Amino acid sequence: MAIASINPYTGRVERKFRAFSWPQTERILTQAHRAAAEWRTTTFAHRAQLMHRAADLLRERQDELARIMALEMGKPVVDGRAEVLKCALCCDYYADHAEEFLADDPIKTEAQRSFISHEPIGVVLAVMPWNFPFWQVVRFAAPALMAGNVGLLKHASNVPQCALALEKIYHDAGFPAATFRALLVGSDMVEKLLEDDRVRAVTLTGSELAGAQVAATAGRQIKKTVLELGGSDAFIVLADADLELAAKTAAQTRMINAGQSCIAAKRFIVEKPVVKEFISKMKTHLLAFRTGDPLDEDTQYGPLARPDLADEITQQVEDSIEQGAKVELHGGQSKPGTALFRPMILSNIKPKQRAYHEELFGPVALILEAKNAEDAVRLANDSRFGLGGSVWTRDVKRGEALARQVEAGAVFVNSMVKSSPEMPFGGVKKSGYGRELSYLGIREFVNQKSIWIA
Ligand code: NAP
Repeated sequence: MAIASINPYTGRVERKFRAFSWPQTERILTQAHRAAAEWRTTTFAHRAQLMHRAADLLRERQDELARIMALEMGKPVVDGRAEVLKCALCCDYYADHAEEFLADDPIKTEAQRSFISHEPIGVVLAVMPWNFPFWQVVRFAAPALMAGNVGLLKHASNVPQCALALEKIYHDAGFPAATFRALLVGSDMVEKLLEDDRVRAVTLTGSELAGAQVAATAGRQIKKTVLELGGSDAFIVLADADLELAAKTAAQTRMINAGQSCIAAKRFIVEKPVVKEFISKMKTHLLAFRTGDPLDEDTQYGPLARPDLADEITQQVEDSIEQGAKVELHGGQSKPGTALFRPMILSNIKPKQRAYHEELFGPVALILEAKNAEDAVRLANDSRFGLGGSVWTRDVKRGEALARQVEAGAVFVNSMVKSSPEMPFGGVKKSGYGRELSYLGIREFVNQKSIWIA
């Protein structure tokens, strides 16, 4: 794929970039590797000072960064600003907590003193997607840099200006240039980078296919991977739920980022007695969402990030309808090759349909009818994915018990699934492995070294 910013709302090519050659990339890798030796010797206090500065710059530049996202991948500017502010929070969080999270862990043994120390591992490659083009990168970069590692970013080919803007933030904050670099390279360069011994590990956020390919290469090279992949989160609504709140939240979560969020609820599993009412309420809320130019302040959802992504989801929907899904709310693309996709609701979702098994990365809500709570959990778990999930009930104890039974990296009771710096984030099954955020995230890419003093 060409490395270019193409406005999905207008179709206009905003900017094109020439991909870095291998010699160019290799030069940056050499600098990064050298920088890693220096950077690991710096103090937490010094790193924290720079990271707080990066947070300040994110806040100062929120309008400019939101505009870049709107132009490159169609995110409404209001949401873009919120994303940037969340990135600032994450930088502050790791600036404040990295030292405590990576402090020595004393262990009682027969030794005089024994403990685990957490040491940087060097250059870490981050392969990142376009959907939250700042947040996905910062939730890797803030802990990595605070841990004393060095980051190389291979961002998605349609968001090069986001990649460069973030690189500039870290550089302007005072991080040595080689500690964080954006590589304008295609996905074909990832294998070559991973084959180089100076790259010590890789984290990938993206599709299952990309994750499997990158993990296979990393596996051959005996390199650690963290994979944050797709999801088809269940949103379980029990008959005793606050139906109005559940339906309103259901519409909100399905519409996050025009439906292009890994942790947006995608399968709405509703107990039979309330399914009709739930669909009717959700429909009302979905129809209230305003679309328009992502640069307009009152736009609530813009186009999908690329026209081919809208074509793909249209195909998934058409196949599922042919296989028996029922349209409850008409929407979708107005014509092939265009990026705008209006919200849809499909019901009668059954195992023979594509929609039952695949991730629908756009604003299509799938309704599955459950006989009872146990059946709802069975349906929730009958998925290749296991990223997030939520349970809606007035009986919070029961909600908690059901949350424990859902196979996912995060389950929320009476709330939509969201990420925050304090809580670990990641999946099970085909949604990937490893965790980002919290104290677990910063410990993924460190050498957890046993030290024994006899
Ligand atoms: P994608 O096509 O997998 O791309 C993600 C990144 O991987 C891009 O930088 C892409 O580069 C690169 N890539 C693709 N194929 C590759 C390969 N064979 N080898 C090396 N790198 C490769 O995913 P996307 O369409 O951008 O993002 C949507 C997917 O990401 C959805 O499935 C979504 O659920 C998932 N996601 C997961 C999380 C999470 O935290 N679990 C968060 C956000 C999104 P190019 O752009 O150059 O192709």
